[in-house]
Amino acid sequence: MLLTFDLDGVVMKNPFSTGVFPAVTGLIGQASGLSHGEIMKLIIGEAKSRMGLGNMVAAYDWDDIVNLVAGSLGYREPIDVAALVRQHCTPEHIFAYPEVAETLAHLKTTPHPLLVLTNGFRKYQLPVLEALGIAGFFDAIYTPEVNGRAKPEPEFFLEPRVHYPGLHLHIGDTIIHDIWGANEAGAKSIWIYHDLPESIAGLPLKERAEHPMMSSLVAEGIARDLNAAAYPSVTVAGAMPDYVIKTFGELIPLLSLLQMCENRQIDRGSGP
Ligand SMILES: [Mg+2]
Repeated sequence: MLLTFDLDGVVMKNPFSTGVFPAVTGLIGQASGLSHGEIMKLIIGEAKSRMGLGNMVAAYDWDDIVNLVAGSLGYREPIDVAALVRQHCTPEHIFAYPEVAETLAHLKTTPHPLLVLTNGFRKYQLPVLEALGIAGFFDAIYTPEVNGRAKPEPEFFLEPRVHYPGLHLHIGDTIIHDIWGANEAGAKSIWIYHDLPESIAGLPLKERAEHPMMSSLVAEGIARDLNAAAYPSVTVAGAMPDYVIKTFGELIPLLSLLQMCENRQIDRGSGP
């Protein structure tokens, strides 16, 4: 089974919100007199406008976006966002989610390929993975600037399958990008939702996605998206996950369950 992982909100917290963006708006604010909130509105607005125009790769090019906004506000010095990421790879700004390191260490002992499928450029994501000591668990990292696509575009999900055929499971926290995108690309979607209510989390893994409350949780997930309007074809039915987990460690029992199902299918297929 091929496992592809979203990073932010699943594996790690990146340093953008608490370190990189405050540093950027501090610089631009000195020149422009605008507040952090006012400058962030312009930065996010530029990213959303790129997404709206279908420029999915450029929408995640924070160096380009930040320098464009800075220039428009009269700040002329180049801002090196990737360098700011590296500077802020410190315990105040980044962390790995609970159970990530031990779960990845266990999965590394299995034959399943472990790949990253992230919308963050490699120069922003790899330093964080390295600082957290978990980069080595992954067999490959797929990013928009290298592959020319971004989630939720199905082509981005299909790319790794060229090299890693077989059942594809994608694990992510964002309903539109990770779950709807994986579904559209024919992968099995696994939603990690840390706030999963106990009424669902208390159920066996194979029953959770069928819970009647799931469709409203998925609808809320769609509404939370930064730019849901950029994906008019998303529906709640099309964005329902195949499986739901509350913690990263639940991947291990879930994979055992899926492996059992797959083995049964193989047994049936090779039977008399
Ligand atoms: Mg995410």
